[in-house]
Amino acid sequence: MPPLIPSSLCCVFAALLAACAAPSNTAASSGRDVWGHRPGPKNFRTVILDAGHGGKDSGATSGPTGQREKDLTLDMVKRLQAELRGSFQTVLMRSDDTFVELDERVVRANRHGDAILVSIHFNSGPPHLRGPETYYWRVDSHGLATRLQRAMTGVSPAASGNRGLVRRRLRLTRNPEIPCVLLEGGYLSNPAESHLIAAPAYRQKLAAAIAAAIRSQAALGDAGTGPLPPPLYAPPSRAHDARQ
Ligand SMILES: [Zn+2]
Repeated sequence: MPPLIPSSLCCVFAALLAACAAPSNTAASSGRDVWGHRPGPKNFRTVILDAGHGGKDSGATSGPTGQREKDLTLDMVKRLQAELRGSFQTVLMRSDDTFVELDERVVRANRHGDAILVSIHFNSGPPHLRGPETYYWRVDSHGLATRLQRAMTGVSPAASGNRGLVRRRLRLTRNPEIPCVLLEGGYLSNPAESHLIAAPAYRQKLAAAIAAAIRSQAALGDAGTGPLPPPLYAPPSRAHDARQ
């Protein structure tokens, strides 16, 4: 039951409601929103870059090259930060080899309103799988995810058996209250792709393409990314849910 409101405060609430209803070109898709059942963001100012894993959690390790996912993701967010400098304020979830719990990453992301979250990973699976994948869950993250998957696919010379664009409830796709996506930049378990990812020039191309997709989303919103998916109702993702 809502609390009773003293009449002297009613005019204040009325003024607040009027302010909320004022037209704004970003009102429908900026700020925090628990469900994210809304169009994708436009004109956002802040990009939160999350380097997957870190510290005691190495993530996947490439058999062919020995490279660790946690080092590659940190390298990628630093390249992305440089690519986005001047266009956005960037926030790094971690800037060195430290371990940050997934729920803590969500808490940190939720400190920002006018922002998107991009979590960077590299994949592992049967050796024949290769190619980038993009995970999202919220309706307001579909356009951004579509742009990012297209951008990475444009850089990747080949794909085989991979999942492409996937709607999946993960802690970093379901729980943040801002548009959020999780990128898998390629399979470290595929010998050819792993050697490609080991090359700094390839990671730079990947970072430049990801940055361009983020700039496109900020400029255009969801335009050209197809119809929005239906809203889903599901509880926040927990540690015992699917892999992160
Ligand atoms: Zn990972």
